[in-house]
Amino acid sequence: MTTHLSFDVHLNERARSAAEREQVLASPGFGQTFTDHMIAVDWTEGRGWHDARLEPYAPLVLDPATAVFHYAQELFEGLKAYRQTNGSIVSFRPHANAARFNQSAARMAMPELPEDVFVESLDLLVRTDRDWVPTTEGHSLYLRPFMIATQVGLGVNHPSGTYRYMVIASPAASYFTSGLKPVTVWLSTEYTRAAPGGTGFAKCGGNYAAAFVAQRQAVEQGCDQVVWLDAFEHRWVEEMGGMNLFFVFGDRLLTPALTGTLLPGITRDSILSLAEELGLRAEEGKISIEEWQAGCETGELTEVFACGTAAVVTPVGAVKGSDREWVVGDGGTGPVTRRIREELVGIQYGARPDTHNWVHKVC
Ligand SMILES: *Cc1c(COP(=O)(O)O)cnc(C)c1O
Repeated sequence: MTTHLSFDVHLNERARSAAEREQVLASPGFGQTFTDHMIAVDWTEGRGWHDARLEPYAPLVLDPATAVFHYAQELFEGLKAYRQTNGSIVSFRPHANAARFNQSAARMAMPELPEDVFVESLDLLVRTDRDWVPTTEGHSLYLRPFMIATQVGLGVNHPSGTYRYMVIASPAASYFTSGLKPVTVWLSTEYTRAAPGGTGFAKCGGNYAAAFVAQRQAVEQGCDQVVWLDAFEHRWVEEMGGMNLFFVFGDRLLTPALTGTLLPGITRDSILSLAEELGLRAEEGKISIEEWQAGCETGELTEVFACGTAAVVTPVGAVKGSDREWVVGDGGTGPVTRRIREELVGIQYGARPDTHNWVHKVC
């Protein structure tokens, strides 16, 4: 199997002008507009990875019987490139995304991609489209690596024999337009995101397809986001939408343990590692919705926040379920949430020392 791949480079002759780019960068939104290039690498059974290339961003032409459309053999990653205060461009912990990509791939019976090829593909795309990395504070270039099953045919007894790995990139403003404004969450007791033995820990599109109905219900209930509970008792807190959760008890942080039904967030992992330096004790454990409510009522549970690459840290201000609702703290953004966000963003943009070697220089 392939151990080294070199990328062919086909530059886009119809790349947008500086003026067109600046217009997009003035107000990029999130995941709306894409850069001039993309990465593609193919995999064939018996041959491994081949035809690695950077090429002009363009639609795909796929047979309607392509496996991904029918059986959802697909997975993705999400990370960002940041323009630091000194002008250089970095990504944040890309090797962690590479490792998680391969954990997802193993669960979905898809081929693993060598970690160095994954990171090199991101670096090549970002270097080529470096002018698309925003200079506005808080903005970034969102990178979306993904892999799809490309075999044509409807047979269901075996995984696809061919795959395509791709990376696209999109300039991004802050994910939640409201910034650090607290969200109200809906406790979903009707739907579950993941069950033991399932795909909860894998970053696959199917998890999201199954989640939209609950997210829509949350909005119908006047909430911003859905909180996922365990599949058996509908009591134990797992995640919020596409983000992990942290509970703050004064100077103690608690986040739900990775049981296999939670997505192992890299932001979550980074916060666990940073806690001590920030004078906090962090632990992974269990918390039920009753404990969440009681903690808020006694005042022991002072803050709750969600975390993920796209929005970094988002405070949870209020909670609503079919038979209960309550406020977290005073419903605002607490000091621990603020401090953690500041530290993470500071490392990503180069305003704070990178003591964990998380920042990967691209150019
Ligand atoms: C991607 C994702 C997260 C957050 O992971 P990060 O690596 O921190 O961005 C959390 N939950 C789900 C369901 C996700 O898909």
